[in-house]
Amino acid sequence: MNSQWPAWLPLRADLLGLTPYGAPQMEKMIQLNTNENPYELPESVISQMTARLADLLHTLNRYPDRDAVKLRSSLASYINSRSATSFTVENIWAANGSNEILQTLMLAMGERGALGFLPSYSVHPLIAQTTKTPWSSGTRRADFTLDSDAAVAQILKSQPALTFITTPNNPTGTSLSLSDITKLAIATSEVSGLLIVDEAYAEFSEEISAVTLIDKYPNIVVVRTMSKAFAFAGARVGYLIARPEIINAALVTRLPYHLSAQTQAMAEVALENAPLLLAEVARLISERDRVKSELESLGLDVVPSSANFLMFTGFEGSPSDLWKRLVDRGILIRDIGIPQYLRVTIGTPAENDRFLTELKSLTS
Ligand SMILES: *Cc1c(COP(=O)(O)O)cnc(C)c1O
Repeated sequence: MNSQWPAWLPLRADLLGLTPYGAPQMEKMIQLNTNENPYELPESVISQMTARLADLLHTLNRYPDRDAVKLRSSLASYINSRSATSFTVENIWAANGSNEILQTLMLAMGERGALGFLPSYSVHPLIAQTTKTPWSSGTRRADFTLDSDAAVAQILKSQPALTFITTPNNPTGTSLSLSDITKLAIATSEVSGLLIVDEAYAEFSEEISAVTLIDKYPNIVVVRTMSKAFAFAGARVGYLIARPEIINAALVTRLPYHLSAQTQAMAEVALENAPLLLAEVARLISERDRVKSELESLGLDVVPSSANFLMFTGFEGSPSDLWKRLVDRGILIRDIGIPQYLRVTIGTPAENDRFLTELKSLTS
């Protein structure tokens, strides 16, 4: 048996080889490893949140709104304003981060299996495993883009209940066009499955959101988060957009009162201030383009990205070695386990400069 766990522990046999999810968290470092937004919330938003929280504390003896109706209508308005759609509260569900959304979907609908195209978000197969969802790993081209015809063939072959695509993809940064997503939606519907489109980085991308396809292809489920563009990772708010039947089915597996009153209220304030919070997105995009060209001028190869991070290669030695040397200099980026590649999150201009300076001294 696996020596990592004591023999007396009644852990499920299929979990024996796993360890808890663990991107390193190190304080006092320049943190460019988990794709967070480097900017704090603006003071004006913080004071609105403080006032809302002060009111709320008087009713913490009561359970929160189990259906988060106010928050879900605010999310519907936000999506409608960006994508010219007409979703209502019935088309939205919210949870403690999009990871909880993914878990809820797999618990409710994963029995016939899930498929994803690697490399992609490592949490998809991880949640599949913990929810006993049989997982199939599909592939991408050598340049990390998705060949949609090959993907269709993989869908028809493994006939999954849930097919996951991430666009822009993490960790590669590459994105999929609406016409490719359409092909996958048709193939997944032919095998009576859902297409789960993880759009955690949508606000950083110029592609039109897959939410615009839901009307025509009702087996599409779009998963979004406030963790990245909204600078709200600590609050834990993710949501999904889909037809109501899908949401109602997913709800069978959600925990009662899963989304705290504080979380709901803070997210409502954040959405009331959406334009202000999203103002930094444009700055991060222009920093992404600057960092990309600086990396290229160091002789590195950078995968084209429409998210707030870059994956790069072309350095000497192993990724883990370079990662470690950057850590020694106070900079935390991500070793995503792809041979020869590392991923860096776009930070503030000063953080990016520090990263580039240290990287230059280590690679030249
Ligand atoms: C960061 C990320 C998430 C977000 O997770 P939350 O639980 O909402 O913080 C989801 N999907 C992808 C692809 C991500 O990179």
